[in-house]
Amino acid sequence: MSIKGKEMSQQFDLIVIGAGPGGYIGAIRAAQLGMNVACIDEWKTADGKPAPGGTCTNVGCIPSKALLQSSENYENAAHHFGDHGITVSGLKMDVAKMIGRKDAVVKQNNDGILYLFKKNKVTYFNGRGSFVKAVDGGYEIAVAGDKPETLTAKQIIVATGSSARALPGAPFDEEQILSNDGALRLAAAPKKLGVIGSGVIGLELGSVWRRLGSEVTVLEALPTFLGTVDDQIAKEARKAFDKQGLKIELGVKVGEVKVGKKGPSTSSGQAVSVAWTNAKGEAQTLEVDKLIVSIGRVPNTEGLNAEAVGLKLGERGDVIVDDDCRTNLPGVWAVGDVVRGPMLAHKAEEEGVAVAERIAGQHGHVDFNLVPWVIYTSPEIAWVGKTEQQLKEQGVKYKAGTFPFMANGRARALGDTTGMVKFLADAATDEILGVHMVGPMVSELIAEACVAMAFRASSEDIARICHAHPSLSESTKEAALAVDKRTLNF
Ligand SMILES: Cc1cc2nc3c(=O)[nH]c(=O)nc-3n(C[C@H](O)[C@H](O)[C@H](O)COP(=O)(O)OP(=O)(O)OC[C@H]3O[C@@H](n4cnc5c(N)ncnc54)[C@H](O)[C@@H]3O)c2cc1C
Repeated sequence: MSIKGKEMSQQFDLIVIGAGPGGYIGAIRAAQLGMNVACIDEWKTADGKPAPGGTCTNVGCIPSKALLQSSENYENAAHHFGDHGITVSGLKMDVAKMIGRKDAVVKQNNDGILYLFKKNKVTYFNGRGSFVKAVDGGYEIAVAGDKPETLTAKQIIVATGSSARALPGAPFDEEQILSNDGALRLAAAPKKLGVIGSGVIGLELGSVWRRLGSEVTVLEALPTFLGTVDDQIAKEARKAFDKQGLKIELGVKVGEVKVGKKGPSTSSGQAVSVAWTNAKGEAQTLEVDKLIVSIGRVPNTEGLNAEAVGLKLGERGDVIVDDDCRTNLPGVWAVGDVVRGPMLAHKAEEEGVAVAERIAGQHGHVDFNLVPWVIYTSPEIAWVGKTEQQLKEQGVKYKAGTFPFMANGRARALGDTTGMVKFLADAATDEILGVHMVGPMVSELIAEACVAMAFRASSEDIARICHAHPSLSESTKEAALAVDKRTLNF
């Protein structure tokens, strides 16, 4: 597959631009399938070291889960150990140490990817990759960075990911107005914290700092809480968040955001003031020490020089692709956050693998109906497939079964009985159409539903499978049984 007559450039079968979960996993899979692969990524640590892994590893999935775990441990020690007869005195939170631990977890992941690149003979370039021109049925790609390079390949995967969207007129300074990046490396819990946007990222990061003592107010433009989540599950989650003291305002219009010197409660002497109107149209002001803005993410295509080769972009700046991740150009593919679909690491990974397999002449496949979603708050929220409101909208006849963790022995022993498991199955065939969960460890429980749905299982199939006792997964079995109004009542 090499391109002849290009002595100045290094030739590869495949060049992957971006080493987030879409890019690095696609690059490794392609190398395993026998291709000579280069992967270019520009991310560097604060001290200038290459840091492959993208948003997910550096400022997304991994660091947020590290901080969620640390803050949950703290909250348990502060508020729940007493129930177990454990007295803690002199409890203190060392935020710097927590952030240091998170950084170490991130580094282990960066190093793991470098190791995998080496093991699978993927050539990694740290720098910015951009299209130069089309050549001999392939493409020339420039790497700008400490060591500029020119590479060529017949196949290109664009996996450049996404970046946080700023509020108009309020750019991120990562001091007072924070994206996910700044929100994951605060030096101390702010006394008052504002969060704009109650999506996955806003709720997770808001939860971290609330557990560590911040008074958190979340402003959400949409009139419903977690609109894409099954209504019943979202309501249950909302009750739990209200109980924890997370203030959530829906149907809000955010106006001017000012960063000034005089705030009511600031530790730093600076404060952010947000003008907003509530759902009734009444003018309000929110004054906080720090403001996290989590109102969505923008695909990263600015630095790609897409025009040089005529790569078609959409209105959001996303790379336009078909269901198989093919762009408008032969041999150019795009995966992950930079294309349509949910901005989730595992969706990016699946697309990366599928594209590598397609390039190798295999039949890579991603089932977009079976991409699970998880929100790692406490309680956790997880789901796969259709929500009840979607089934109603689509006129699908369905049966529903729910089972609360309150009635689960393992949940009682854990001391965490919030939430439930809910099954939705086709009224005629009993095929599982959606599984929705809110409660302890449901990020792990949802995998059973994914497997079942991938094999097109019925709710009765799950109800007839032996589940360990006592386990949280018994709630999954009970919810499946409840679809046909049966129960074992453990
Ligand atoms: C706070 C937070 C928490 C999250 N938690 C979860 C979670 O729990 N589970 C989940 O599934 N998803 C989560 N996500 C979403 C997840 O991080 C993304 O969906 C995922 O990282 C997308 O992968 P990707 O490979 O498409 O892009 P990215 O991970 O964004 O990686 C793209 C890489 O390409 C690099 N790049 C961009 N342009 C160029 C260029 N021209 N040249 C060279 N390199 C370039 C970028 O620097 C980056 O390293 C979270 C996101 C955030 C912000």
